[in-house]
Amino acid sequence: MSEKKPFEIARETLKQLTARKMAPTPANYLMIYNEIGGIAVTPPFPADTLRDIAQALPVKTPGQQKQRGLLEYAIDRLNWDGVKTALVAYGGFIPPQADVPNGAVSSASGAAAAPTAAGSSAPALTTEFLTQIGRLIEYAQPALGSDDPRFDEQTKALLQAMRLPNADVAGVKTLLSNYSHRLSFAAEDQAEIKKTLLKLLHLVFENIGDLSMDEQWLKGQMDALMTASTPPLTLRRLDDVERRLRDVIFKQKDAKERALEAQKEMRQMLASFIDRLSDMAKSTGSFHVKLEENARQIEQAKTLEEIAPVLKEVVSATRHMANESKESSEQLQFMRERASETDAQLARLHQELDRVSAQARHDTLTGALNRKGLEEAIERELSSVRRKDTPLCVSMLDIDNFKKLNDTLGHAAGDQALTHLSTVARECMRPQDTLARYGGEEFVILLPDTPLDKGVEAMTRLQRELTKRFFMTGAEKVLITFSAGVAQLAAEESGLEAIKRADQAMYLAKRAGKNRVVGV
Ligand code: GH3
Ligand code: MG
Ligand code: MG
Repeated sequence: MSEKKPFEIARETLKQLTARKMAPTPANYLMIYNEIGGIAVTPPFPADTLRDIAQALPVKTPGQQKQRGLLEYAIDRLNWDGVKTALVAYGGFIPPQADVPNGAVSSASGAAAAPTAAGSSAPALTTEFLTQIGRLIEYAQPALGSDDPRFDEQTKALLQAMRLPNADVAGVKTLLSNYSHRLSFAAEDQAEIKKTLLKLLHLVFENIGDLSMDEQWLKGQMDALMTASTPPLTLRRLDDVERRLRDVIFKQKDAKERALEAQKEMRQMLASFIDRLSDMAKSTGSFHVKLEENARQIEQAKTLEEIAPVLKEVVSATRHMANESKESSEQLQFMRERASETDAQLARLHQELDRVSAQARHDTLTGALNRKGLEEAIERELSSVRRKDTPLCVSMLDIDNFKKLNDTLGHAAGDQALTHLSTVARECMRPQDTLARYGGEEFVILLPDTPLDKGVEAMTRLQRELTKRFFMTGAEKVLITFSAGVAQLAAEESGLEAIKRADQAMYLAKRAGKNRVVGV
C-alpha cells in the first residue's frame, strides 16, 4: 500500500487525468487512483454475463441440469474454480451429434458413434474426419488457382473453423456447403482457362507455321506440335511441345540473321567500293603530276638524248597506270557481281517477308487484327452466337478529320494516333471483345454477348475515354474523336452484312455532325 493519504492520491489522480489528456470518467479515475495508490487491481467478476450464459445453456439431460445448477451456485459465490468445474462437467454431457441433425459430417460421426454410448470416441472421430477433409481441401487448393480472393478467404475461414479444438460442426457444415458451391464455379473456370490456353497455343503454332520461311521443315514441325498439344495433355507431351517450339524459334532467328548478314555484306562492299574509287583518284592524280613533270622536262630538253629517258619514264608510268586501272576494273567487276548476288538474296528475303506479312493476322502498325484476322474472328463469334443464342454487336468506327491531322502534324504523328486509339480501345474493352483495323483509319470492334443498347453504350464509353486520354505528339495534346455505327447481328445475317450495316450507321453518324455513335 502507498504511504500517501487518500486525499493526496485523489489530488494526484486528477492531475494525472489532465496530464494524460484522459476523459474524467469514473473508470479512468479508478484506474489512475489504483495505480497511484499502488492498489492491486483484480478484474471484476462478470456475474451478470456469466448468469446470462448459464441461462442460455440447453438442458436436455439430468446430468446437464445438475451441472447448470452447480454453475449458477458458483456464479452466486463469485467462484471462478466452481464455474470452471461446472462447465467442464456440463461439456461431458453433450451428445456428440446433438448439433448436427443430418448431412455428411454428422452421419459419419453418428455412424461411428453408434456402437458406443454417448461419450469419448465420437468427438474424436469427428475431429479425425474434419482433419481429413481439411487436408483434402488444402491439397486441392493449388489446382484451383488463387485468382479469386473471396474464394481464398472462404477456404481459409473453413480450414480455420475445422481445426478449432472443439469445432462447431453445424458452423463447419454451413461453411463447407458454401465452399462446395463456390468450388463448382472455380473448377469450371479452371477447365475453361485450360481449354482457352490450349486454343491459344494452337493459334500460336498456326501463326508460326504461316510465318515460316523454310516451309517443308516447319510444316512437319507444326503438324507435330498440333498433335502434341491436343488433349489429353501429359507432362511428357508438353515437354515435347517445348523442345519443338525452341527448334522453330531457332530456325526463325536463323532466317533473320541471314537477312542481317546479307545486309552487312552489302554495306561492307559499298565501303570498299568507295575506298577503291578514292585510291583510283589518288593514283590518277599522281600520274597527272608525273606527266606534267615529264612534259616540262621535254619542253626544256635541247637534244634527243635528253628526251629519250623522259619518254621511257612516261611509257613506264603509263603502263603502270594502265595496269592499275585494269586491276581496279577487275576488282570493281567482281564487287558488282557480288553486290548483285547479295541484292538478289535480299530481294528473295523481302519477297518472303511480304508473303509472310500477307498471311499474318495482325496489322503491323497497331497490333489489332487485320482483315484476314477479322474474318476468322467473325467466323468464330458467329458459330458461338448460333450455338449459345446470344446477341453479338458489330461496330465500325472511323476517325474524324484524320486527313487534317495528317496534314497538320505529319504522317508519322498520324501513325502514332492510330496506335494510340488501338491501345485505348483495347484497354477499355472487355477481354472477349475483338479489335480489328478494317482500313486506313477505320476499325471494327466485335462485342459478343452484347445487345444493341449495350453496344452503343460501350462505344460511347470508348469515346469518353479518348477525351480523357489525349494523344500526345511531342508536347502537343491532340484530341482524337471518331464516329461509329453499331449493328446487332440479325438472325440469318452474315458477319459481312452486319459490318455493312454498321458502316452505313457510321456514315449516318458522320452526316449528323461526327463524334457520335449511331445504332441500327
Ligand atoms: P472524316 O471525318 O469524314 O472521316 O474525314 P477524314 O479526313 O478522316 O477521312 P478521309 O477518308 O478523307 O481521310 C482519311 C485519311 O487517312 C487519308 C489517309 O491519308 C489517311 N490514312 C489512311 N491510312 C493511314 C495510315 O496508315 N497512316 C496515316 N498516318 N494516315 C493514314
Ligand atoms: Mg475513312
Ligand atoms: Mg475519317
